[in-house]
Amino acid sequence: MTVRVTTFEAHLQFLREHGYHIVPLRDVVNWLNGSGTALPSKPVVITVDDGHRSVYGKMLPIVLRDRFPVTLFVYPSAISNASYALTWDQLRSLRQTGLFDVQSHTYWHPNFNVERKRRSEADFRQFVHAQLDTSRRRIESEVGGHVDMLAWPFGIYDDELMAIAADEGYVAGFTLNARQADRHSPLLALPRFLMIDAYGTGALARLLDEAQTPTIPASENMQ
Ligand SMILES: [Zn+2]
Repeated sequence: MTVRVTTFEAHLQFLREHGYHIVPLRDVVNWLNGSGTALPSKPVVITVDDGHRSVYGKMLPIVLRDRFPVTLFVYPSAISNASYALTWDQLRSLRQTGLFDVQSHTYWHPNFNVERKRRSEADFRQFVHAQLDTSRRRIESEVGGHVDMLAWPFGIYDDELMAIAADEGYVAGFTLNARQADRHSPLLALPRFLMIDAYGTGALARLLDEAQTPTIPASENMQ
């Protein structure tokens, strides 16, 4: 979610001191679907949703200093448009470091529960297809790389949405279900911990050690 730089630095130090390895999200997806090589011990992935400018101004120097991989999930309608958002130039620079992967967070971050209520079934399906397709195309043409991973806006997903994502060529989707991923996790609904600034290293330790204890109620899975 949003964390102060000092909080993020403390989390990174905790991971280092406790033997965690920050690995590319792609490596974990490949491991989960059985096509990848073994992961290092205690693997952790860092993802950042929404493409805010602080990724460039605040996070990039830390990533360059410590050299760890990050996956960004962005929604193209905001990029080079909203005042808080990164620009396409910044996203290209981030990717050129070799440490940032840029993936899809749909085209304009809709709430699919709201959209489903106000559209016909056919219109809703077409809307979801367009959100996933347009986002992928725009990111691939502006930034490069292959876009086939998706963070569900607000963590909202269901069987229909996952089927459409698969149809659009997405191989992995990410929720805000606060638990660790394992090979039983559906690839299009992989869990993530939403990190907030109130989490000190003690809270982080509990998240990592108490894998099956959700710490964020579903009703707060908004961003
Ligand atoms: Zn988001």
